[in-house]
Formats: sequence, C-alpha cells, structure tokens
Amino acid sequence: VSESAAKLPSKILDLMDGFKASKALFVASKLKMFDYLKNKGPLKAVDVANEVGTSVCGTERLLDACVALGLLEKTSQGYSNTDSANIYLTSDGEYSLHGYIIHSNDHLWPLFTNLESAVREGSRQNHRAFGRKAEDLFKDYYHSQEVKQRFMAAMHSIAHLTARDLATAFDLSQFKSTCDLGGCTGALAHELIQIYPNMKVTVFDLPEVIANISYFQPSEQCAAPVTFVSGDFFKDNLPEADLYILSRVLHDWPDEKIHILLSKISAVCKPGSALLVAEIVLDEQKTHPPRAVLQSLSMTEGKQRSGSEYKQLLEKYGFTNTQFKITGTLLDAVLCFKKNLSP
Ligand code: SAM
Repeated sequence: VSESAAKLPSKILDLMDGFKASKALFVASKLKMFDYLKNKGPLKAVDVANEVGTSVCGTERLLDACVALGLLEKTSQGYSNTDSANIYLTSDGEYSLHGYIIHSNDHLWPLFTNLESAVREGSRQNHRAFGRKAEDLFKDYYHSQEVKQRFMAAMHSIAHLTARDLATAFDLSQFKSTCDLGGCTGALAHELIQIYPNMKVTVFDLPEVIANISYFQPSEQCAAPVTFVSGDFFKDNLPEADLYILSRVLHDWPDEKIHILLSKISAVCKPGSALLVAEIVLDEQKTHPPRAVLQSLSMTEGKQRSGSEYKQLLEKYGFTNTQFKITGTLLDAVLCFKKNLSP
C-alpha cells in the first residue's frame, strides 16, 4: 500500500459506495442472474442478457460489478457463480437469501430513500415510500397477496438460515410442547422437530399468514409434523405450551402492545414454563452490532434493546433466571423461566 493510499479514509469511501454495491446485488438477484449462472454457467454477458432479456452492455457492467464485489468469478469462458452465490443468492439455494434480498430492494430501499424525512419526523415513511400508511406494520405487508408472499419469503430465508443456531442455543429437550408465536412459515418449528423429535411444536400466526404457508413447507415429510394455528396474539387465546418463542417479534411493537403480549404469555405460563426470545441483543451502549442499529432506522413503532433492557422487561412480566446466548451472528437468544408463585 502506497503512502497516499494509506492516508485515504477507506472506510468512508466504502460507505459512500455501499448503496451502489447493495443495488447491484439486488438487481442481479431480481433478474435471477445467479439462477441462470448456476444452471448454465459459465456464460458470456451476451448469453446472460439473452436469457434475462436485458441489454448486453448493461448486463456486462452489472456482471463485472458482481465480480468486483466477489459474488461472481470471471474467466475466458465467461461468468460463473462463486460457491456462496450458489448457496445464498440463487432462489433455490440451500440457504437462499433471495427472499430477503427482494424484500430489501422492494421494501427497505424505498423506505431508506426517505431516511431524511424519517429522522426529521421520527416516524415510519410508508406513506412517502408507498403512498399509503396502514395502521400497523403487518397490515401494510398483508394488504396484497404479492407483498405478503414477498414478506413471508424474506422472513423464511432469515429464519431458515438462523434456525439451527437458535434451536441449539440452549438445551430445550426438557420442553414437551413449544409454541412459536408469530412463527410465520414454520422454518424454526421444523428445525426444532428435527433436533427434539419428541417435542410437539405449534406455530401461531395471523390467519392471512397461515393460509399461505404451504409453499414454504419442506418437501420431505418429517415424522412429527408442525401444527399451525391461526389467530391474533394480542386478542385471541394462545395455544398451551411449556415453551413459548418470540423470534423477531418484540422489536416491532410499541410498549403498549408488548405489555398486552407479555401479560398474555405470562398468564398462560405455568411455573417452570419458559419463554425464548430471539432478537439481536444490543450492547449496553446500544451502538453495536451495526445490523440492529441500522435496522432501527426504519422507524417502526418498536425498538431494539440491550441485554439489561430485555432482562428488566422480562422480569416485569414474571420471568426470571434470564440467560443470554450472544451468537454474534444474525440472531441472539434469551431464555427465561416463569417464576414460581410461592412467596
Ligand atoms: N418469527 C419469524 C422469524 O423470526 O422469522 C417471523 C418474524 S416477523 C418479523 C413477525 C411475525 O409476527 C410475522 O410472521 C407476523 O405475521 C406475525 N404477527 C404480527 N402480528 C401478529 C399478531 N397480532 N398475531 C399473531 N402473529 C402476528
């Protein structure tokens, strides 16, 4: 590294280009370029352009950008996927993030384009980004079949990727029955059954979601299937279980809604029952990890919390013995137990 290169503020320069890199990844994913290259690569730019129906010069620039970003390889035969593009970027890859990438492009990008107004006004910018503001986050996602399918695919891709780490963050074999509240497509539920074959697992989610789960179920039938129950966790009775799970649920809601939800869970829990919360746990300064801090900028009515804030919140609803498993990956795990009623 030359002396002048060493003096460059490389972190700042990378951040200035970050949005271009994100958009290149989003567009290559949306055009399914990684799918074509997996099935037919190596391919020349003209062949990819013909498959996808795009201009040759635009396709070549995008493919070269993907090479520069380390997503593709380029040889004299043409462009091919890297191993991680095959696993994570193809729409049928083992741990495909395709669903989340499309959600990032179609939903988060327009929201973040309005970040300045979001910061000025301190509120979600759905009205500016999409011309409508529904009464809550999920009414926004579920107003059309297309947006709902896209949101569910996004949730499924992250949940599938994190399911094993989450299911094994603590030994859950003592629990005979588990209810994943807001469990969406059942990605975590299926993993729990693989790891704890004797566990009875129920997924509880809104009727619109439960009506749409078939697309996301694993093809091979596992011995003990997951039970899906539809309902509203703020209004309806919760299924009985020894262990309740709230994965990526608490950060979405304002305190009044969290109060309703945790009061209901606490009321149905018997002493010794437990609650597993999966979230990114912030450090005590609340500035790390960046993924959670940046997510806060979407200005939902909810918020990200630190370890001590989760402990305090859970204690308020009668949950003690709070244990943390900070994974350093996409989701951390917090396990706590319903207090015995004895004085
Ligand atoms: N737990 C999944 C995960 O970790 O991938 C999904 C998390 S997603 C951010 C929140 C989930 O809560 C969605 O599946 C949503 O449909 C569900 N949800 C939202 N409001 C709900 C309600 N009132 N009753 C039941 N489920 C609800």
